[in-house]
Amino acid sequence: MNARLLKIRQRLRWKYNDFLFQNGMGKHLLRNRPGGRILVYHGIDQHGSREFNTRFISQQEFDQQVAWMKTHFHLVSLDAYYAGAFAKDRLTVALTFDDGYANNLKYALPVLEKYEVPAAFFVTGIRHTGQNILWPDFLDLATPLLQRPLVVDGETFVKDKRGELVARSSRKKLKHLAKESDYLFILKMLNAFPMEADPREKTEWEDYWRQMTAAELRELAASPLVTMGSHSFLHTSLGEIPIDNAREEMLASKNYLETVLSKSITALAFPDGSYTREVVETAREMGFEQQLAVDFKYPEDQKDPALRTRLGLHPFLSWNNQVAIILKGSYY
Ligand SMILES: [Zn+2]
Repeated sequence: MNARLLKIRQRLRWKYNDFLFQNGMGKHLLRNRPGGRILVYHGIDQHGSREFNTRFISQQEFDQQVAWMKTHFHLVSLDAYYAGAFAKDRLTVALTFDDGYANNLKYALPVLEKYEVPAAFFVTGIRHTGQNILWPDFLDLATPLLQRPLVVDGETFVKDKRGELVARSSRKKLKHLAKESDYLFILKMLNAFPMEADPREKTEWEDYWRQMTAAELRELAASPLVTMGSHSFLHTSLGEIPIDNAREEMLASKNYLETVLSKSITALAFPDGSYTREVVETAREMGFEQQLAVDFKYPEDQKDPALRTRLGLHPFLSWNNQVAIILKGSYY
């Protein structure tokens, strides 16, 4: 089937699911659905703006989703999920948050406490470098504000048709180069932007970029509902860099979080779902007993006791359709 037909079929399915739920027929989808899913959230804001980040939802939406899931799913902590504490008659679900936004503490934790629902939070070690923003967020927010070509490390970057920065000579995306680079390059990149394009100057945007401080991480971790985990040190794609660098990334983030939180960190979520078998084994050796991918990449992953897949949510779909996807376990 060609892409256009697939799209039409998907749209029809979304409409059909909305119809089922709106007419009280969605319940049949929920009955006798054992199994498990780990869901990934990112940011929560006050108004549900997707202008800056398409993966953000409002606190009110999050409240409604948690209330709904509390009624229809069996919501468990990451530890309980790994221990196999699944319900027999309904879907068992663990909630996770990636990227370490301060908005997680501000808007998500109160909702989790209201409904007494556990969640795991995966954060980087970026604060330890003196930065208060993750570089992918910096790029997303700063690029539209940029009025002239950007020179990083002697290379000139210009915006392509989609507004993304690409190297003038090789047409390589700056974002892709940064994903495979070390901290020095990332620092050069951040410093190359002029002040008028620096999103950190815009405090009204703070909910969309500000990373939790050490004190905020401690405040979040103090909740008995919360599990803290590593999301690498700099949000680097661990499967795309040399293994020694990946080891450094994982170890540095583990050390940072263990120092800040005074507890051992045994859960790891791969940034962008990127890993290799070597990354998995290296992470296991340093004590990461819970390793979260997006999709499995290798046949042996299925039987690996440390590995689990996760499902990202897409707020542009209606909640009914997101539920249908959660039940199905994939977008395909
Ligand atoms: Zn991430």
